[in-house]
Amino acid sequence: MPEYAIPTMQWAQVFEKNGGPIEYKQIPVPTPGPDEILINVKYTGVCHTDLHAWKGDWPLAMKLPLVGGHEGAGVVVAVGELVKDIKIGDHAGIKWLNSSCGQCDFCMASDEPICESAVLSGYTRDGTFQQYAVVNAGHAARIPKHLPLDAMAPILCGGITVYKALKESQAKAGNTVVITGAGGGLGTLALQYAKAMGFRTIAVDTGDEKAQICTQKLGAEVFVDFMKEDVIESVKKHTGGLGAHAVILLAVSEKPFQQATEYCRSRGTVVCVGLPAGAKITAGVFSTVVRMLTIRGSYVGNRLDTQEAIDFFARGLISAPYKVGKLSELPKVYELMEKGQIAGRYVLDTSVCAPLQGHERDRMLTMS
Ligand code: NAD
Ligand code: ZN
Repeated sequence: MPEYAIPTMQWAQVFEKNGGPIEYKQIPVPTPGPDEILINVKYTGVCHTDLHAWKGDWPLAMKLPLVGGHEGAGVVVAVGELVKDIKIGDHAGIKWLNSSCGQCDFCMASDEPICESAVLSGYTRDGTFQQYAVVNAGHAARIPKHLPLDAMAPILCGGITVYKALKESQAKAGNTVVITGAGGGLGTLALQYAKAMGFRTIAVDTGDEKAQICTQKLGAEVFVDFMKEDVIESVKKHTGGLGAHAVILLAVSEKPFQQATEYCRSRGTVVCVGLPAGAKITAGVFSTVVRMLTIRGSYVGNRLDTQEAIDFFARGLISAPYKVGKLSELPKVYELMEKGQIAGRYVLDTSVCAPLQGHERDRMLTMS
């Protein structure tokens, strides 16, 4: 078994209050409990959920001060005394679900994301915007050693979440699924998972770069630019007037949640995944009834969804765009994300941490 020298201090991105400065600084390396493992995070994706958490967008209490992040892929460097099936040196991942009670009705039915005692990485427990992070061993994602950890990171929230949502959509091979927010982190992955699952896709987002990526690289048959087109009319036009069999709502904006039932086919399913602050979903009762529509929420995935989502990736079926930056660049990534300027995911390399240079430091301190 390899031995790793674990430092006592490490680099992390920490904020003390919602919307306040995000401080890039050294903090102690955490120690795993008996049923936990310590992972040396090599790469961490930045999910829009991390931005919501920093801004305090949701009616859900969080830990403060907080190290955000919940898409961490790395190497196991320490295991608690009760952990038998994960060894030091294995590759493993930290996802949104850090642990759950295991005993409630939901956990017993493998619905652990809705466990009321669930611990959430980068929300109620320090997450992956640090070099060393702790996770309950049962909830750690098992990552085969031959897989690249940078490409793996976005799978650990984005991939799992969209794979689960596509399953929840009840779509069948050959059906058409609309992906709103298709050019973002979850959206680009959703197009790939949908294709691998045999679905046809219509991508909804904005801008030429995202249009090109969605249609040329990710398999979308049609791109609808929500800034230039009437989304309801365009989707109907491309689906023979009937609408799409399913709609996966990933956008960080309320409007698509008010439009989706209007371009969903009768008997179809609208799956809500995106979590814009304070948003409401709107649907006419009459048309929902007489068109037999289903509207549902989908929240990350369970442990089996996790391993299945990783397996799609391992079989070479998932290739979504991502850019790699440094852990110190997190505030810049949030700025780009807020403006909708990231096509795909931003992944941070946590191995190249060093004190900030003068101009970088000024930038960090002016973010608020
Ligand atoms: P992202 O910022 O990478 O992508 C969002 C995309 O939505 C952007 O490309 C943006 O241009 C697009 N968009 C904005 N307004 C739109 C509109 N009106 N129509 C169509 N597209 C529009 O964000 P992400 O990381 O992909 O996360 C998306 C959302 O999903 C966030 O709210 C996040 O918190 C949520 N999320 C939910 C779960 C879950 O389990 N339900 C899991 C992970 C993330
Ligand atoms: Zn996420």
